[in-house]
Amino acid sequence: MAQSHRTPLSPGSTIGVFGSGQLGRMLAMEARRMGYRLLTFSPESNSPTGQIADSEFAAAYDDRAAVRAFAKSVDALTFEFENVPSLVAEIAAEEDVPVRPSGAILHAAQNRLREKSMLRQAGLPVTPFHFVKDPAELEEAVRKTGCPAILKTAAFGYDGKGQTRIEPGAKLSSAWQALGGQACVLEAYVDFERELSMVAARGVQGDFAAYPLVENRHVNHILDTTIAPAEVEPSVVGEAEKLARRLCEHLELVGVLCIEFFLLPKSRADRDARSSESATTGRLLINEIAPRPHNSGHWTIEGAVTSQFEQQLRTVSGLGPGSTEMLRPAVMLNLLGDLWHNGEPDWQALLAVPDAKLHLYGKLEPRPGRKMGHLTVTAETTEAALEKGFAARAALQRA
Ligand code: AMP
Repeated sequence: MAQSHRTPLSPGSTIGVFGSGQLGRMLAMEARRMGYRLLTFSPESNSPTGQIADSEFAAAYDDRAAVRAFAKSVDALTFEFENVPSLVAEIAAEEDVPVRPSGAILHAAQNRLREKSMLRQAGLPVTPFHFVKDPAELEEAVRKTGCPAILKTAAFGYDGKGQTRIEPGAKLSSAWQALGGQACVLEAYVDFERELSMVAARGVQGDFAAYPLVENRHVNHILDTTIAPAEVEPSVVGEAEKLARRLCEHLELVGVLCIEFFLLPKSRADRDARSSESATTGRLLINEIAPRPHNSGHWTIEGAVTSQFEQQLRTVSGLGPGSTEMLRPAVMLNLLGDLWHNGEPDWQALLAVPDAKLHLYGKLEPRPGRKMGHLTVTAETTEAALEKGFAARAALQRA
């Protein structure tokens, strides 16, 4: 049977995706374009993915019978967020449906400790960390790491949720309680120069393709702006590609993956390189990984030959990755629920900007911090794209 999993799925085949947010929606759009069928499974109905998919299964992730029925009705399975129980992979294996990326990768990505341990084991540079299970271990870890430090729940949070910064002299018991008294990792605070990321893909035959390295700017721990390509020295791009390839090969990934990096200042990287205890000999530290398309890869829809969602569809279907060549420099700006604070944003003003490409995710309730959509601008240079992008987003704001 394993052999049949290697036969690529053609248009007309059915892909199942666990999760039903905007990432699944953009995958569904590519599936529609290319003639594949796409089914989504999540506890929601009329979801961002479900609005586009051929069919929407609304059931709990631990509903064994529903998961089995879903697995039976598709040719391959993937996911669009990590917090899908491992039951999903177990049932898929029983039904002999390929899960791409594998259940083992999903399992590692669901928990910071497992993820960081895997990265360290693969010889990849991660932010120095300690696993802490109780306040006494936290105290010991803070003593070793020094302050400031960042305490993060081991079970995954996202967009800065489930983490707190520990300042010198902070009351550690309060920090511990603030995160719900659960297993955590304590990370050294990294005084990085910039945040970067790279989306990469790997097919069943082991063929690897990486997109250009991009720069990410966050506001309140949420991604605000992605600038493609990042303006960094070629050696940093080479380093990122090397790390991305090594990680994909270590994981035997079939699918798409994003690595988020901290770029260390040159002085710190030089100092680390001389220290035998250092995790890195280069300028990049891995902050986290996501074994799926990522918000920082949305620019590829307009800015690259193959979008990250077509890439996911291709690799999940057993095809090789498409070209990751950049067509034009691009800037992606997130549109959060905050934009709705004075009513519906001024769409006409945005759509009057000829270069702005609007993406809305079909979410009915605009809450502060909620990702409602994004816009992308491509231009001759990243500076020009940034200028137009910021002007277009500002035009949306109602006074
Ligand atoms: P995360 O959820 O781990 O991706 O963290 C969200 C954001 O918090 C990151 O994109 C960084 O801006 C910041 N951050 C997380 N960990 C650290 C760290 N160890 N040092 C400095 N900033 C961090």
